[in-house]
Amino acid sequence: MANINRRRPENISGNFYVDSSCIDCDTCRWMAPEVFTQAGEQSAVYQQPTNATAEMRSLAALLSCPTSSIGTVDKPKKIKEVQQNLPALV
Ligand code: SF4
Repeated sequence: MANINRRRPENISGNFYVDSSCIDCDTCRWMAPEVFTQAGEQSAVYQQPTNATAEMRSLAALLSCPTSSIGTVDKPKKIKEVQQNLPALV
């Protein structure tokens, strides 16, 4: 589970963030390139999701991150829906 206290300063402000446990595997950048980018040797959120599709893809990245380095400030409401549709989202 991502830790808000380890939120990388490279993240733009807002709900989604990457914490300092990121191992730079590239998965989130591949799954939601409109939200995640490389910043140094780790990922960061450069733009918060601006529509429902981007939000779902970002939540899919959150679920797929091997180190659980992606978090949200607010408890995600659509996480079960994303879990059920994960293969179809990528
Ligand atoms: S999926 Fe997780 S570990 Fe991989 S680059 Fe993104 S935040 Fe880092």
